[in-house]
This record gives sequence, structure tokens and C-alpha cells, in this order.
Amino acid sequence: MSRPNILFIMSDDHASQAISCYSGRINQTPNIDRIAHEGMLFYNCFCTNSICAPSRAVILTGKYSHLNGVKTLTDSFDARQDHVAKILQGAGYQTGIIGKWHLGHGGNSDPTGFDYWCILPGQGDYYNPTFYVQGEEKQFTGYVTDLVTDLSLEWLDSLDKDRPFLLMCHHKAPHRPWQPAEKYQELYEDREIPEPETLFDDYATRSDAAKLAEMRVGEHLGVTDVKGEPPRGLVGRELTRWYYQRYIKDYLRCIASIDENVGRLLDYLEGAGLAENTIVIYTSDQGFFLGEHGWYDKRFMYEESLRMPFLIRYPKRIKPGTVNEDIVLNTDFAPTFLDYAGLPVPEQMQGYSIRPLLEGKRPDFWRESMYYRYWMDRDNHCVAAHYGVRTKRYKLICYYAPGRYSNGTLPQASESMTWPQWELFDLQEDPLEINNVYRDPEYAAVVAELKDELKRLRQELKDFD
Ligand code: CA
Repeated sequence: MSRPNILFIMSDDHASQAISCYSGRINQTPNIDRIAHEGMLFYNCFCTNSICAPSRAVILTGKYSHLNGVKTLTDSFDARQDHVAKILQGAGYQTGIIGKWHLGHGGNSDPTGFDYWCILPGQGDYYNPTFYVQGEEKQFTGYVTDLVTDLSLEWLDSLDKDRPFLLMCHHKAPHRPWQPAEKYQELYEDREIPEPETLFDDYATRSDAAKLAEMRVGEHLGVTDVKGEPPRGLVGRELTRWYYQRYIKDYLRCIASIDENVGRLLDYLEGAGLAENTIVIYTSDQGFFLGEHGWYDKRFMYEESLRMPFLIRYPKRIKPGTVNEDIVLNTDFAPTFLDYAGLPVPEQMQGYSIRPLLEGKRPDFWRESMYYRYWMDRDNHCVAAHYGVRTKRYKLICYYAPGRYSNGTLPQASESMTWPQWELFDLQEDPLEINNVYRDPEYAAVVAELKDELKRLRQELKDFD
């Protein structure tokens, strides 16, 4: 059998709540939805550390942060280590990465394993961005999401038709500060976007971590985020509502461009006769809070931030319009690519190929729980470092240290707090995660069981710290 091409489209901070095939109620994404309608949608795809650079390192290496070396945003990626693109390149794949790399630049951090790389420096710019084209700095005119697609199409067109390809098409959008393309500036101007149910969460039953975090829509967004000052006199809930509308509209406008450009790539594959033999994936490096719990941003192990959108189409092997609820992780992506390329999965990769799930044969050994860890302890969001375990029904989180500001100081409010602090959520009874039942005697057995499972997972995944 001929080896499939792999087109991996990943955006930055695109929450599944803003994708219509995930029953998102705030926008329409007809092109992204096409992948789900013609392939499989995963409801429970989770990231193992919900933050940009770390998730990217996990995706490439198939290893958790503590083993691939990128635990926080400030750790740079040592690209000398083995990863999926390098292995596919060695096996004859034509490999390219276009768009956001975000794993450092220069030294040992430039992309390896790619025949062609054209990456944004750091976060990159939305308008007229500079790219490093094989290391050479070049400025382009236009909007970043369109350009990443233009460059992807150009590269695809240049390929040898007799060899398979891996293209990692990595969009910058819809990352903060949410700057839309000119053509979508007025989109949603005449309507109100529905608010999430937990926009005014008071964190009543939660650990101190939720109270300490500085990512509240109504308090911590700035003028550059919402492109202006709120009207005078707005206070309290009305002020939060104003910020939410400004924030969410620009976020969704950025996604309108992503969706349009996903359509361009799908159309190209069809036109070029490549649709049948190409695995197409749409995902994002993590989830995002779209006003849930009053927040923007990610980092927490709560559902909106933990969940990655994951849609995959491969007409030869995947039944159209199917859905899956098994727990899959970003550590599974690399093993899946290797499996479909007919290559062995190296032992150091910690994920599993999802191929059996895609082909309707769930193996008995498939995981029933997942391990999460957020390491970051220095940034201006002050999210406490935590780890935890999620099963189909429950989530246990241990916050073990308060987050620090970038300058190393602790939030003043944390002085009177003690750590660790725990949270338990019964996702069946409380899908919005507003009721922490860690101290509820009825859940004592569940807590004990999950603590054992957490210990077991940490052993298995070699997180001994
Ligand atoms: Ca991100």
C-alpha cells in the first residue's frame, strides 16, 4: 500500500467551543467541520501541559514535557533529539513546517527533520509578518493566516509526486492579541455573542489557585487586547460584559480567517487528486477559556483549556461522520503518523497510535485515565503549578505551588495561603466544574482511588520530581 501523505493543520489557542461541529454555539466553521463530516471527531483529546511551546514539543517528540525538556515557555527545545519529522524524513517523506514553530530560534532550537522550514520568529506578527525561510529573514506583505496558507500551497505544489509528504501547517491565529484580517474586521458587529454560563464564576468552592489567577476578562485584558477603552461609567458585570464582547468578537474574527484557509487547503488536495491518500488533521496546541470561569487564556487543567480540538480525515481508513470519546493525548500524534507510515514507534515515545480507534477497533489496553502537569511558575497570569489525573468521569487536581510574576515575586494574596491544595470534580454531575467535592465525605473513596492512579501514572510516565 502506498504510504499516506500527512497534512497537519494546527492553530494556536483555538478552543473547541469555537468550532461549530463541536456544538459550538458562538460561531460557524464550515470548512473545519468538513474534516469532521468526512472523517472522525474526537471529543476527549487532551493536552498534557496546556501552554504553547510545551505542547508543540510534546507533539513532535511524543514525550511528556519532563522528558522532552520544554516544561515552560522559557525552556528552549533541543532539536537534536529524535522526533516524528526527523523519523519520517529519514524514511523518505518530504517534510515541511510552515508558520509558527515557537520552540526557539538559532543554536540547537532551529527546526530539524524538515526539508523545508519557513517559520515565524517567536509569536510572529499578524500583519506583514517576517518569516525565517530556512534561517533567512524575509518580510512578507499580507495577513499571517493567508500567508501561512499561500506558502503551504506553494510548497505542496513544488513536491515530488512520487514520494509522500508531511506538512505541518501551523497558524499563529487566534493567539492574543487577536488581530483579525481586514475583510473580517466588521464581522459580528451587529450581534451579541452568547456568554458562557460561568462568566461570573465566584470560585466559591475552588482552591486558591482559581482566585489568584490573573486572567479575568473583566479585569486583566488591556487596551491592545480589546483595541480601545471601555465607555466611562461601566462597572461590575456590565464592564465584564463589554470586555467579553470585544474580546470574543476579535477572537472569532481571527478564526473566520483560519476556517477560510482550511477550506483552501482542502480544495487544493481535491483539485490535485490528493484527497484520498492524505491524512488531514485539524487541531490546536491547547484549548482556551472563552469567558468560562470569567477567564481568557489557558494553563489550567479545567476542561476548556485541557481539551484540544482534534478532527481527522483519511477516506481510505476512516468512516465519514464518526465520533470518538476515548481519551487521546497530544503524545499520541507522533506514534499515529509513524504507524500509518509503516514505521515502528520508538520506545521513548509515551503515546499510542490512535489508528485502531480510527479504524473502529478499540484495543483493550486503551487508557482510562490521563496525567496532566502544568509547570509554569513565572508569568503575569500567576497560575499555580499543578498536576492531576482525569478519567472519563472524574478529575483530581493538586496545586502544589503558587504562580509567580515574571519578576519572581509572589502575588501578595498568596502569603496567607498554604499548599498543596486539592480539587475534585465529578464531571458527570458537574460538567462546568464549579463544585469542588474534594472534601465531600461521599467522594472519599473516589479521592483515594484517584490518588493511587495519579501515583501510578507518575511512575509509568517517569515524572519523579
Ligand atoms: Ca497556544
